[in-house]
Amino acid sequence: MPVNLTANAISAIIGGDVNSKPLVQVLDVKLIGSSQERYRLLLSDAASTQHAMLATQLNDRVKTGQVRAGSVVQLIDYICSTVQNRKIIVVLNMETIIPDCETIGNPKMFAESDAVAQKPVSNGVSGNSMQTTNSNTSAHKVSNNVQSFRPTVQPAYQPPPSYRNQGAIMKNEAPARIIPIAALNPYQGRWAIKARVTAKGDLRRYNNARGDGKVFSFDLLDSDGGEIRVTCFNAVVDRFYDTIEVGKVYVISKGNLKPAQKNFNHLKNEWEIFLETTSTVDLCPDEDPSIPRQHFDFRPISEIESAENNSILDVIGIVISVNPSVPIMRKNGMETQRRVLNLKDRSGLSVELTLWGEFCNREGQKLQEIVDSGIYPVLAVKAGKVNDFSGKSVGTISSTQLFINPDSSEAHALREWFDRVGRNTSSQSISRDALPGGSKNEIRKTVSQIKDEGLGRSDKPDWVTVKATISFIKTDNFCYTACPLMIGDRQCSKKVTQSGSSRWQCDRCNQEFEECDYRYLLQVQVQDHTGLTWVTAFQESGEEILGCSAKELYLLKYEEDDDARFTETIKGCLFKQFLFRLKIKEEMYGDEQRVKITVVKADKVNYAAETRYLLDLIKKFREVKYREEKKRRRPRIRNASQPRLTGSKLETPITAPRIATSTVPPAAMLSKKFWSDGETPEAASATSGTIIEAVSAADVAAVNPATALSLSEALT
Ligand SMILES: [Zn+2]
Repeated sequence: MPVNLTANAISAIIGGDVNSKPLVQVLDVKLIGSSQERYRLLLSDAASTQHAMLATQLNDRVKTGQVRAGSVVQLIDYICSTVQNRKIIVVLNMETIIPDCETIGNPKMFAESDAVAQKPVSNGVSGNSMQTTNSNTSAHKVSNNVQSFRPTVQPAYQPPPSYRNQGAIMKNEAPARIIPIAALNPYQGRWAIKARVTAKGDLRRYNNARGDGKVFSFDLLDSDGGEIRVTCFNAVVDRFYDTIEVGKVYVISKGNLKPAQKNFNHLKNEWEIFLETTSTVDLCPDEDPSIPRQHFDFRPISEIESAENNSILDVIGIVISVNPSVPIMRKNGMETQRRVLNLKDRSGLSVELTLWGEFCNREGQKLQEIVDSGIYPVLAVKAGKVNDFSGKSVGTISSTQLFINPDSSEAHALREWFDRVGRNTSSQSISRDALPGGSKNEIRKTVSQIKDEGLGRSDKPDWVTVKATISFIKTDNFCYTACPLMIGDRQCSKKVTQSGSSRWQCDRCNQEFEECDYRYLLQVQVQDHTGLTWVTAFQESGEEILGCSAKELYLLKYEEDDDARFTETIKGCLFKQFLFRLKIKEEMYGDEQRVKITVVKADKVNYAAETRYLLDLIKKFREVKYREEKKRRRPRIRNASQPRLTGSKLETPITAPRIATSTVPPAAMLSKKFWSDGETPEAASATSGTIIEAVSAADVAAVNPATALSLSEALT
């Protein structure tokens, strides 16, 4: 097939053309780069050839064979930039016209001496424009120009007929095209992006081998949802720090793209922009509604449970409790604040959010005041860090942002759900080891069952919930002296001893300090109608049981010598009923095997929630009776109709078939996976007939999983 490639296309592109959408042939495709997969093409216009980099978003074209050696392609979006004094074409978009074709013409490598010779001229031009960018007139000029360009496609100018002689000069007189953040890459020389600042980091000073310095970063979001971090050092900080305001929209150009520093940068972009003194940052005076204020990627709390440790994510929930701020000593001896609050969402779970430092007094204080006034606010967390120290929790980092009662559809839906049902449904926390891997459901046991069923004797610990009453608390050695230093964002907590100088010494941290922390190590006897047992409560559960910190209690007993108040405090919690979440595991003590029972959470019995739980249980029994009755009268033909009774650890004899759990959930077995939004136990099991549907769905599952899937979708 005869094909006419666009004559002189290569020299035109190198001269600055970005508009002619030429037809060229790919002569070679080469995979380069080790960390990042990149393709280099050799392009030909039948007379000249030149190397081109393929933007990574087009990598699939090569992988799927749409673009290969021999392909004739039309370049749609492209740009030529200088990398280490070499001209490189960057292809941002293209179409394959003919997938495979013989080499056309007899092309030779393009000589780029002309283009290189003109480089000093172009530098001079950009230098001048840089000088004036801070003045208002310049800002207006750039942003006005910017508004007249459509992103991605609109060219900066019409190429002159003779590219060779005037191209480079013409190129620099025109403003760079605005491209999506997602299309940025280091091979583009000239680009501009228009984006909103979504976060601005603090100015930080550092000291390293090359001396003192300062640095700050900010995050950008554009109308295509692309995000990227921008970092400035030293003189560049002085130039831009005051200009950058969170929420404002800027056109930014002439920065350096480098691989993102993933340790500090959680944005979904492999690149990071480093601004230079020649970079331009121009405020767009008019509000651009096409660029969102903030981009969230909210993850339900049920997903945080399986999220990787240290991963960064967004979460939104209702703040159901706020603890007071407590001072914590950092490893460097500086004191900081910590404040723990609990978030609950429609997945029926709650998670601990730990605020650090400034967050405690700013948003934390505000949240406490709101919650104290009896209102449960919505809190959106942008970029929280997952911690798996005990269960899963989320903590703030320096780039975290908190939004109280944000005006977004997610927030409104959550509020609506909470006011309608969420307020009255109990939620399980995924924090503090409450829900270790595997056992997602609360398993109710009686005290005697712990022994009778040999809990804790398998490889993995057993996690159960026992409703029991405290009958005795050992008061000697109720706490220990602990290291208050922070290791990362958690407290060391190792037992410390007093050195000769009366200072405390931590072997792990290898440091001394004036004051130590006190942490509970509480031996508690609990009992229910079936028997009694000893359990151990550590810091948080100790506080839950006694209602005060170990340090307060220690000071009361040993510093103030106030035995009366100490005894009063202990007696005050005797014969109180709690829902104890217990971890049960057999451990070796010397050569003796002993079952160790640890309280991971102690909740005072909420009688309303407990009554609902019991009512649900009664309802379940009734429904099973009804079903059995019905079965006896009209026996089924297939045995497969029996719902799968899974999990030997489920205490109650009724287990709804997995596939239809949401239609009849006993509160104790609420499986979040099958628990659809806004559904309540009351609403779900309002009619006893729903169980029949559930069984028939299980029937179908035994026969045809695909049908059952759609059925279960219809049911939930
Ligand atoms: Zn320590």
